[in-house]
Amino acid sequence: MRISSLLVLILAFTTRALADGLPDLGDTAQLALTPQMERRVGESIMRDIRLHDADYDDDPEASAYLNVLGNRLVANSQDARQDFEFFLEKDPTMNAFALPGGYIGVNTGTIVNAQSESELAAVLAHEIAHVTQHHMARMASNQGKLSTAALAAMVLAVLARNSQAGLAAASIGQAGAITAQIGFTREFEREADRIGFQTLQKSGFDVRAMPAFFERMQKAGRLYENNAPAYLRTHPITSERIADAENRIQGLPYKQTPDSLEFQLVRAKLRAEQGTPHDALTRLEADLRDKKYSNETAARYGVAAAMLRAAQPARAAATLAPLLRTTEDPMLVGLDARIKQASGDESGALAVLQQALVRYPNNRALTYACIESLQRLGRNPEAAAMVDEQIKNYPHDARLYALRAQGYAALGKRLLQHQAQAEVYALQGSLPAAIEQLQLAQKSGDGDFYQLSSVDARLRELRAQLLQEKKDKQ
Ligand SMILES: [Zn+2]
Repeated sequence: MRISSLLVLILAFTTRALADGLPDLGDTAQLALTPQMERRVGESIMRDIRLHDADYDDDPEASAYLNVLGNRLVANSQDARQDFEFFLEKDPTMNAFALPGGYIGVNTGTIVNAQSESELAAVLAHEIAHVTQHHMARMASNQGKLSTAALAAMVLAVLARNSQAGLAAASIGQAGAITAQIGFTREFEREADRIGFQTLQKSGFDVRAMPAFFERMQKAGRLYENNAPAYLRTHPITSERIADAENRIQGLPYKQTPDSLEFQLVRAKLRAEQGTPHDALTRLEADLRDKKYSNETAARYGVAAAMLRAAQPARAAATLAPLLRTTEDPMLVGLDARIKQASGDESGALAVLQQALVRYPNNRALTYACIESLQRLGRNPEAAAMVDEQIKNYPHDARLYALRAQGYAALGKRLLQHQAQAEVYALQGSLPAAIEQLQLAQKSGDGDFYQLSSVDARLRELRAQLLQEKKDKQ
């Protein structure tokens, strides 16, 4: 699609959405976009984000936490059957955004600046409601037939997110400037607030967090004017929304909801990663000294993480040691292992990781760290056995295939290395790159008959898949 026609289309779409009012809320039967199509649009944007978005944050500890919290809310939402994936964007501004098909992005700044876990949950519940109420599909349904790429570009433009990829990148920039202020319409925002509130309440969070968060955002918006937080641009907060949220909490019994330790630790970790290492450490040490924290363990953990980042592993170890004696938590173990590695004690790191995995066998972050540690120690067969075992349980985990490729590379097994790398690309949705890896595997010259036939078979599969994708795009 040419840039000019896409622009016209987006303009037509936004003006119509504003002028015509909205399709009947609650009825999905007449939407032009089926749930399957929504998922495909979402997937295509996610692929773009994973491959090209430098801010995409795949920190396994933070994303595991975000997905546990998000899915707890989803279980109490309007549509618990919908699959959701929550992901992080390294961005200090507060924002969260919902893509069609259940993908929800959260800026790290949202967690860093949240005053409580209930506030973060309130933001997520609002985004989940945008998905379960199919707001994107409703906005698109005025448009008639659109290609997946055009829809994806439109969604990105509405969300005012930049993208490097082949989704008509230039037009997204221009259209984004036009649609940035519009975001979701007022009706959609009101519906997402109302339904998000119910989800928040059913999930046992403090519902007072919702108006409190809105008010803080509105204040921040007034302070910065032209540089208003991104959240305000995509979800404009009006006095009416604040009043609605306050009316909802009227007469509800007071319910205190303590923050989970995991929330506190993830927030502390993200705080330690924000800004320069020196500034982060200075800031977190000052907060600890002035007792500006809601959980002392998390505050000390944050300082230790910042010390490690500032290349002071000995001080980090001394700060973390007392916490390890009093608190049992996989994130503390993970930091302990990273500090040991930075101090040159790889065997010590492996020992604490292996010990912790006995207690937390399903912890993804500890598992990855353990495999990497085995590889660094040159214990490749053990690492490979662990990867194989994990892939049986998590066949769609691209990171495991990347670790498998690394292991084979260390062993000099070229066919197997390229074959594993092909699966990384296939899972990330980049079929041409996956096919190229399989061709390299064919030419590697170090595979036996069975290995070569398995490469050939997979190559045929992926080529057919690529052909189908090209047909779908037309
Ligand atoms: Zn919204």
